Amino acid sequence: MAPSLYPDYPPELTTEREKYLLANLKDWSIAHGLAVRPAPSFVTQDQDPSGVLATTAPITLFPSLFPRACFEEGLAIQKAYNELYSAIARDEEWLKGIVEELVNIDDFVAKLWEIHVAVKKEGYVQELSLGLFRSDYMVHVDPSISGAPAGLKQVEFNTIASSFGGLSSQVSVLHNYLLNINAYPSSASAIIKADALPQSKSASSLAAGLASAHKAYGTSRTSYPRCVLFVVQDPERNVFDQRLLEYSLLSENGVRSFRLPFHRTLLDTKLDPDRTLIYVPPHSQTTPYEATTVYFRAGYSPDDHPRSEDWAARLQLERSRAIKCPSILTQLAGCKKIQQVLATPQSPHLKRFLPDDATASRVLRTFAPIYPLDKSNAGEEARNLATNPESANKYVLKPQREGGGNNIYRKAIPKFLKSLPESHWPAYILMEMIEPPALRNAILRNGEVQKGGVIGELGVYGVCLWKNGTGQKAGEVLENWEAGYLLRTKGDQSEEGGVAAGFGAVDSCCLV
Ligand code: ADP
Ligand code: MG
Ligand code: MG
Repeated sequence: MAPSLYPDYPPELTTEREKYLLANLKDWSIAHGLAVRPAPSFVTQDQDPSGVLATTAPITLFPSLFPRACFEEGLAIQKAYNELYSAIARDEEWLKGIVEELVNIDDFVAKLWEIHVAVKKEGYVQELSLGLFRSDYMVHVDPSISGAPAGLKQVEFNTIASSFGGLSSQVSVLHNYLLNINAYPSSASAIIKADALPQSKSASSLAAGLASAHKAYGTSRTSYPRCVLFVVQDPERNVFDQRLLEYSLLSENGVRSFRLPFHRTLLDTKLDPDRTLIYVPPHSQTTPYEATTVYFRAGYSPDDHPRSEDWAARLQLERSRAIKCPSILTQLAGCKKIQQVLATPQSPHLKRFLPDDATASRVLRTFAPIYPLDKSNAGEEARNLATNPESANKYVLKPQREGGGNNIYRKAIPKFLKSLPESHWPAYILMEMIEPPALRNAILRNGEVQKGGVIGELGVYGVCLWKNGTGQKAGEVLENWEAGYLLRTKGDQSEEGGVAAGFGAVDSCCLV
């Protein structure tokens, strides 16, 4: 890891000042929904039998330093990334070529593909698709070149259930508030200042994306009121992150939404003969709603599908007339395998989706080297690298999974691969580890402050609404905007970064 350019950041706090900062941070966070339901290990069912307790979300005490040029570049290229991934999701033939390499070795991908094929056979009745995307990056500093400039490298691109847009908006306001009440010592004022703290508009901007789909749905098919459905896991500790989008959807856009636990889909929804999606709220069965948009905050993991009914539920939603965020094809476009194929040197794929050379080369600059583990030449080379503990140490091995906690890192890769039949290796991709600059910060998690070396991961949200199909205006992008940012920060001893998975904290940027 490169040495820090700002060894005195964050500033040391006196005991009294730390107390002041924490007292304000704890109250502000609860007062503004910067919160999560407590972990069962933190508060037992006996202590909170009716589930009323909430606690501050894991957050940093200070905004973390982030290079301004990298931040601005990440935001600037988000519209190109939206265009890229919406184009991939529209190109079923191309996607099929890649998904076919996975279906025999990855049951989850196979199931998703099966659903798409079944709906395609019957014919899709909804041509619009919505993406609430998040492109994740780390700042990379080449350790072999002293003084090498920092560049932004993409960790992954999320096309389903991109989380923390709600909490991220709040944490940037919190850090600004802490600045305004002089919780940070004046010795740091040259660094922490209002124009260095970009405010993330992600909650509002993602909600506006849902509202745009709701509006674009067109004429109602029934006389029922209309709604957006948030398809969620149950229980969900990260509920306030989602609630902040729901509240913004209602207060800023006048759009009603409901939370539908994924496992209740077949109980609480039905399809009309023309496949209009009807939602019947369990608390008020006499007032059904016509669902215009289905926003998945569940359904990205095999764990969401323990029963065969769960696959029937996904089929019902995909068949419906509601706009899906995401559609199955859009979800599949987010496979790590797609990212690897795009990153293949000299491949024609990026140009296929981003015909403008300047745009394509800007996007290309954010790709880190990623290799397949198949029988191609590049794959054979990668297999050699991955099975040798010395060379494997530079890499991370990733399956086609979402939600954190699924990757295998560095020296653990050879042993892991040995435990797997070789025929399954192509279900994984091998990615070079990005080497971010050394930073320090303090994280409040479960009431405890942890201080030390940290690693930051920038997420940039994007909203994209487009038209699929073959008819008039097929392929047209109706809406495309950058939708704010997220900074997640984790201890530098952990390879994983998921906040919900217990590794990281929600943070905001202090641009330098
Ligand atoms: P998921 O879809 O499960 O979030 P990711 O690809 O984001 O999978 O990987 C999870 C975490 O692993 C990231 O948040 C990051 O902390 C770490 N990680 C993944 N790829 C890299 C990489 N190339 N270099 C460094 N860290 C990585
Ligand atoms: Mg992901
Ligand atoms: Mg991730």
